[in-house]
Amino acid sequence: MNLQQRDERHLWHPYTQHKTAMYPIGIVKGKDALLWDENGKQYIDAIASWWVNVFGHANPHLAEAAFKQLSQLEHVLFGGFTHEPAVKLAEKLIELLPENQQKIFFSDNGSTAVEVAIKMAIQYFFNKGQKKHVIVAFENAFHGDTFGAMAASGISFFTESFKNQLLEVVRIPIPEKGKEQDSERKLAEVIKKYNPAAFIFEPLVQGAAGMRMYAPEALDRLIQIAKNEKVITIADEVMTGFGRTGKIFACDYLNEKPDIICLSKALTGGTIPLAVTSTTQAIFDAFCSDDVNKAFFHGHTYMANPTGCAIALETIRILQTNDCSQNIQRISDLHKQFINKMKSNSKTSGWRSLGVILAFEVNTNAGNEYYGSIRNQLYDFFISKGIILRPVGNTVYVFPSYVITNQQLTQVYDAIEEAIEKFGIE
Ligand SMILES: *Cc1c(COP(=O)(O)O)cnc(C)c1O
Repeated sequence: MNLQQRDERHLWHPYTQHKTAMYPIGIVKGKDALLWDENGKQYIDAIASWWVNVFGHANPHLAEAAFKQLSQLEHVLFGGFTHEPAVKLAEKLIELLPENQQKIFFSDNGSTAVEVAIKMAIQYFFNKGQKKHVIVAFENAFHGDTFGAMAASGISFFTESFKNQLLEVVRIPIPEKGKEQDSERKLAEVIKKYNPAAFIFEPLVQGAAGMRMYAPEALDRLIQIAKNEKVITIADEVMTGFGRTGKIFACDYLNEKPDIICLSKALTGGTIPLAVTSTTQAIFDAFCSDDVNKAFFHGHTYMANPTGCAIALETIRILQTNDCSQNIQRISDLHKQFINKMKSNSKTSGWRSLGVILAFEVNTNAGNEYYGSIRNQLYDFFISKGIILRPVGNTVYVFPSYVITNQQLTQVYDAIEEAIEKFGIE
């Protein structure tokens, strides 16, 4: 039996309807932007394996950092103990994050980073004797799949089965071009009506919604409105962090500084699950008290895993090399050239890019259902060409690692042009 057949006997995959889904592809090896399956077929990974793999597959520097740390101290409990990789990583992150950020809380993945952020915000007010429980979030947001993160997420069919068991979340539209004032007005209204604890957002790019983008100035105004009303602002940088938007954090495009920031995905370059929720001294101070009940009673067994922290430090080191900035710039320039070539193509619309993210819509009659037939046709077409892209409805996006070569990117663009010809309508 091959991997595909053995997989089918015991495994359950994410976001998968197993009755109708194709077999998963058994991958045996990766190098840089390439992956190979068990039959020897080669793929260009044009989405960095769900946005994590920023320095390519099987990166020797990350492997070395892991090996060194595993041989020295693989893990120690973080309750009552600490260690060099955690301390160093916290120091490094505080240096890089917006200057209001002072405290680092570790967890394991993007959803838990968000879960922690939401709990911090609600308990912050509780500790100050105020009962606030409502969260404000954007329409079509994605913040993860655990209960709090799921409640904040706005892609309705993901959460339909649980809708009566969720936190109370009120939604505002994202401040897309021309709709900035709608968004501001709605935020002011919901703050007045619901007295929310927090406003959570994906800064500048809504990833899972299909790489929907909006301007930093528009987000600055929303953050101002929230701050004026003492609503805690939470930037979910799980997707945008670590160079993806062309700056280290999407928040680096802002003048306003969010109170809480969530990081994961590229933090360890696609090696080990690790996440961070960072916050300000003021929020931390609300948990400091002679009353033990005011502590933040939240933790995870693998919290601040030394190996993960050591790899994250290596990730940041590589990210800060000239080589890496030049690669980000190179990919960003190529995306812009491709957009210039394609933007008047009448079978497409909505061409946009930021940093290494490129996205557009293929015009179809079929509508833009998330997992609809057009999405599946596009996905299958790209896979048949040896290219891993996962369209969202009729939105196609490219979100590669920084080591993808010009030639590989050209192959991806060529396949996209072919797909537009084949599936797009005027
Ligand atoms: C992926 C993602 C999450 C969830 O992260 P997981 O590690 O999959 O739990 C949360 N927020 C954003 C913006 C994401 O892109």
